[in-house]
Amino acid sequence: MKLAIEGGMPARSAPLPPNYPGAVVMGQEEAESVERVIRAQSPFRYYGPGMQNSVRLLEDMMSRELGIPYALGVSSCTAALIVALKALGIGYGDKVIVPANTFMATAGAVVCSHAVPVFVDTDESLNLDPADLERVYDDEVKAIIAVPILGNPCEMDAIMAFAKERGLYVIEDVAQSCGVRYRGNYAGTIGDMGTFSFQMNKIITAGEGGAVVTRNPAWFERAVRYHDQGLFRDKERYGLETDEESGAAVGQNYRMGELAGAVLTEQWRKLESVNARTRKNHDAILGALEEEIPGFRIREIVDRDGYLGSNLGMILPGHQAALEVIRALEAENIGTHFLYGGKPVYRNPQIYHQRTMEKGNFPFNYPFRKPVSYKEQICPRAEDLMARTVYLPVSPLLTDRDNEQIVEGIVKVYRGLGLAAKN
Ligand SMILES: *Cc1c(COP(=O)(O)O)cnc(C)c1O
Repeated sequence: MKLAIEGGMPARSAPLPPNYPGAVVMGQEEAESVERVIRAQSPFRYYGPGMQNSVRLLEDMMSRELGIPYALGVSSCTAALIVALKALGIGYGDKVIVPANTFMATAGAVVCSHAVPVFVDTDESLNLDPADLERVYDDEVKAIIAVPILGNPCEMDAIMAFAKERGLYVIEDVAQSCGVRYRGNYAGTIGDMGTFSFQMNKIITAGEGGAVVTRNPAWFERAVRYHDQGLFRDKERYGLETDEESGAAVGQNYRMGELAGAVLTEQWRKLESVNARTRKNHDAILGALEEEIPGFRIREIVDRDGYLGSNLGMILPGHQAALEVIRALEAENIGTHFLYGGKPVYRNPQIYHQRTMEKGNFPFNYPFRKPVSYKEQICPRAEDLMARTVYLPVSPLLTDRDNEQIVEGIVKVYRGLGLAAKN
């Protein structure tokens, strides 16, 4: 069959539905929940004439479903990461291990917390490679941030074992992967602290929003205080003993508002069905592609049961082939993309050049015993794999017909470009 890019008939007549899994299932429930907050004239979580306690309800639902005692709603996942780092006492003079394949926010939050990121390479899962941790470790490193990329769980057993041996904290940045599980446990609950995003592009959303979870009451108290000007306003809810004179420390305002909370309680109720529908579509597409394309290769899935399937990460033989696939699929009305332009996070100029808005580029000016510098190719496998992994977003809204057309388009493109059985 002739490729659409060569003038053939496209596999689909129109582009795929937008892949904002939470936003596309928004409806009456969210509208009514927000309306209750507005009618009660109480959009702030800690006081108001008719409090609806939406953020508190969200926290309780998260805590129950994830099986972890403490959850805190915050304004974003960037805020959540900063709160988690602060809660663990990480800051000036510390290094934090960050995966080469992640969003700017993971590295940026480390810098905003006054520590400095060092970058660990990826393996074929496109997540951090536990075997590369030793290379970047030195005694100035205090923590590892594990990031399950686009619904694919990290190899947590190996990461936790390394951290334990070295006395490092582990933060799980689950921004892209709400609901991912590893060996039966939810991502975010395996390490010392977990962070979630409810930004538009993530699994469920209120446009903006985030959360921090932990099992440790002392870290939780520090997290609450840092996110709310050093205050701990509803400590009786947790039965934690703490006093203001010795407990207070200067913090920020990273609070979640009730309007976001009202949306997110309803989004949280939909999470399981969104993820189930997404996964069903993913498996239908992948199953057919594996049958039709000999040697069809996707990123390695660490835990098939816990994986979300929100994206199909197709690994191509090289960057040029990947570019051609993206262009050819675009013409078939099947949108695919590189993640972060196919480049590791340290290639962002603000990180690469170690530029901050502080005097002397603080905290990069810290006199580390082992200096931190970023060059191209510090993580060669991330450089290689990111530049030839093409992601197909998988929406919960795809119909059987959509799935068939996606398969038809991808098969046509792989065959047309001579990629079948070659990678
Ligand atoms: C989106 C994202 C963040 C930041 O989330 P915000 O809620 O937008 O601050 C952090 N880490 C990763 C891996 C992300 O994808």
